[in-house]
Amino acid sequence: MATNFLLLVKAAIDEAKGLTSGENEQRLKLNILQCKCIVEKLSTQTQEILNSVESTCADSAVPFEPYEATFKELYRVVTDALSLIKDCCAEKWLLTAIKQRAGTNIEDFAKILYEIEWCNLILCSINPRKLSSVGRQTVMFEPEGCNGKLNAFDLFKLERASNEDRESLRLGLEHLRQDHVCDNTMEVCLRFRSDACLATQLLEMLDKWAAALADGPMATEIAVPSLWKVDPRDLHKGKSLGKGAFGKVQETTWLGEKYAKKVFPKNGNESQSLMIESDILTRICHPNVVRIVCWSEDKDKDNCSLVMDLMVSDLSKFLKDVPTPRLSILPAVGLMLQVAEGMKYLHGRGPRGFIHRDLKSLNILVRPLADAPELKYHEGYLNAKVADFGTAKIKDLSTRYSTQTLDVGTRLWMAPEMIGNEDDIDHESEHDSLRKLPFKVDVYSFAIVCAEILTGDKPYAGSNMSLTKLLKQIREHGLRPKLPESCPWRLAFLIQRCWEGTPDERPNFSEICRELRYIKGLLLRGNLC
Ligand SMILES: [Zn+2]
Repeated sequence: MATNFLLLVKAAIDEAKGLTSGENEQRLKLNILQCKCIVEKLSTQTQEILNSVESTCADSAVPFEPYEATFKELYRVVTDALSLIKDCCAEKWLLTAIKQRAGTNIEDFAKILYEIEWCNLILCSINPRKLSSVGRQTVMFEPEGCNGKLNAFDLFKLERASNEDRESLRLGLEHLRQDHVCDNTMEVCLRFRSDACLATQLLEMLDKWAAALADGPMATEIAVPSLWKVDPRDLHKGKSLGKGAFGKVQETTWLGEKYAKKVFPKNGNESQSLMIESDILTRICHPNVVRIVCWSEDKDKDNCSLVMDLMVSDLSKFLKDVPTPRLSILPAVGLMLQVAEGMKYLHGRGPRGFIHRDLKSLNILVRPLADAPELKYHEGYLNAKVADFGTAKIKDLSTRYSTQTLDVGTRLWMAPEMIGNEDDIDHESEHDSLRKLPFKVDVYSFAIVCAEILTGDKPYAGSNMSLTKLLKQIREHGLRPKLPESCPWRLAFLIQRCWEGTPDERPNFSEICRELRYIKGLLLRGNLC
């Protein structure tokens, strides 16, 4: 029997309501008001729409069928919301606050609220077949509703909630701090992080964050404390996760949770720049970007470690393992949207934005969705994160010792204007469009990844041309991967624009995200062919 996602959604909404009201309310320790914003939206608007859909369908004896895909999508969003709320109920709230970057993570809540609203919009816009009187006005589903921005009213409420949550957190932290004064030359601070010490540093982070906001959202160059710099002895060694493609990677445990640790050697004199850059990386925080949770420097071994999200596979391997010939179109577009959202975030971060320059399926990591076993991993319901981005120094350090810099694979994802200019990419490039439009190289690579997702194959898999010949064809004759016949025209058109030979004809990631979300919505509504 098919899974009834409507029932699952309703049960999940009830669970979320239960967690934030009555006796359970006491267990909510962090971001209380922001959690309540989410639950309020679900239990009023969404619940109302679901009831109306149910009664309309029952009255006119029409099946739920046109709504089912959207119920499934809504279930994904509600389980995301539930995970976040459960996290905020954790007994050890101080550790959760550190891991969540609580006080500064309003975007986690804004994203969920936006997605709830987006699903609501789709449900309201569906006009079930054979149904003449819907009992409410038909809502239009248009690209503007797909821009990823939360409406002004909800945003205002959320911002107010976030400010109050931050003040509560501050009070809690001040209580814990008592009169601790941090001194990172002392063993007590460096090695034995007491709650008082952690609270002191978290407070310092909140202050710096507020100061940075006052300077404008782009100010990320402030050096923040050593909260995310941890003693190497605190990163417990776990099993090896591999060598080569990612450098040397091991499993590790930090604050009771499992992460991946990438270790690379450094030169003694690089400490200062390493600290500044690691610090910038630890503040990169988006659901579709691999998160650097903390870092450490081992002066004895002269190496440096970045500690990041533990994922189960990479996109390349995942696509190879998909049991059916390829993913179906809806999860495929969902996957593209996740990658695009991660890239949009990276391009907008910092004073100049991060350009990836090496986006490919091997650098996109995946893992099953948390708490939603009904959404099957092998059908493409997964969490995807862009990995292996970085600042110049960290990239340089971590690839200097890795075997796969600019190997065969990498060049097939590379924008034509970059082919032959590889050595120039981090310097003042001779190439005009590389200098003027450096972000567009990632858009090109993204399109190649989309083709991989649709075909399930490496780019140009069927070709028997030599690499040199392939690259010449790509650069001089506009050769591109072949998209499957079944690809909807609107999607094919978008991908083709992204891999245009002329960089300024490629859209940016804001536009790509909006269009992909619109396409995803049309697919959910069942009217895209
Ligand atoms: Zn301390």
